[in-house]
Amino acid sequence: MNEFIPVFEPILDGNEKKYLSECIESGWLGSNGPFVKQLETKFSTFCDQKYGSCVTNGTAALEVSMRAMKDLFKWNDYDEIIIPTFNIISAAQACIYNKLKPVFVDCESETWNIDTSKIEQYINKRTKAIVIVHIYGLPSDVNKIIEISQKYNLKIIEDAAQAHAQTYYGKKCGSFGDVATFSFFTNKHIASGEGGIVLTSNKELLDKINYYKNLCFTKERFIHEDLGWNLRMTNLQAAVACAQMEKIEKTISKKLHIGELYQKLLKNIPAQLSKEQMPYAHNHYWIFGIVLNNDVKFSAKEAREKLALRGIETRPFFYPMHLQPVLNKLGINDNKKRIISENIYQRGFYIPTGLTLTDDKIEYISMLIKNLF
Ligand SMILES: *Cc1c(COP(=O)(O)O)cnc(C)c1O
Repeated sequence: MNEFIPVFEPILDGNEKKYLSECIESGWLGSNGPFVKQLETKFSTFCDQKYGSCVTNGTAALEVSMRAMKDLFKWNDYDEIIIPTFNIISAAQACIYNKLKPVFVDCESETWNIDTSKIEQYINKRTKAIVIVHIYGLPSDVNKIIEISQKYNLKIIEDAAQAHAQTYYGKKCGSFGDVATFSFFTNKHIASGEGGIVLTSNKELLDKINYYKNLCFTKERFIHEDLGWNLRMTNLQAAVACAQMEKIEKTISKKLHIGELYQKLLKNIPAQLSKEQMPYAHNHYWIFGIVLNNDVKFSAKEAREKLALRGIETRPFFYPMHLQPVLNKLGINDNKKRIISENIYQRGFYIPTGLTLTDDKIEYISMLIKNLF
């Protein structure tokens, strides 16, 4: 066996084709179509929030959420938003485009989620919100973050793009934020190619989100008081996402199976694996991560190169936000170290968890990884 194994592959074996055909036959292509409304209703109900607003992608969901919150809650320019440094750039970028300042907090070594014990040192008069990101399929410690947010009167933005159907002490991820955002990018648990959604239970916030994502149209059509964006999702994307949503339980059980098999096969290697569970949740393994022990003689990059030669696609861990060249150029960073995320970036990578993976392939990948040592 020496075929190429991608880091992710979706399965489109449900009603995707049927719903897409319905779009084509009915002529509903655009954002006013019935699947968009259906997705907003079904997904917000699924996550215990009152309202949903579909958008073009998960990054857009963060951008429009921050814009709406800044407006509704009367935040000032360059007010501060706390974000985990071990993260994709979307939340930081959303801050900057909305003239807010991202402030980066290190992660903890066990879960790779934000280290809640390090949040308070970054809070000051200008701090307005905390972004919770559930990293790689294991939730952040939400209760601790809620406690801090209540103590300092901060809003919560919950980026659950890697945690569809995940729960924290039995309550859905995406139910905790004043707004919660999701992505439906191809490699997420619900995929529509590109796509995203904002959830909230605050009607005023929903109205602002819908306003800013739709060019700030007013009742007097074509007369505008503000500038927004066009971030509307198409009915075609929503059709695929609706079909994917019907299979979410199956998707998650497949991910759990993949993760558990890797745990079993890789348990003796000199590396830290994705954390299996915390008291509040079992990992859903959006990805399966490996962090090489410090005494391993090769780096994550070298390990990835060797696996690539055998056809195994892998991905590096997130490059921490506080080291990003673009944020240095913009003068946002404070030149302070965040040691855990710097270390796991150097030592960490993730391996295939596509929905098409067979046990044979998981065993083959695990064998190649063991051979690295
Ligand atoms: C995927 C992802 C995003 C961005 O979503 P896109 O749809 O790719 O724009 C944002 N945050 C997290 C945590 C993600 O995993």
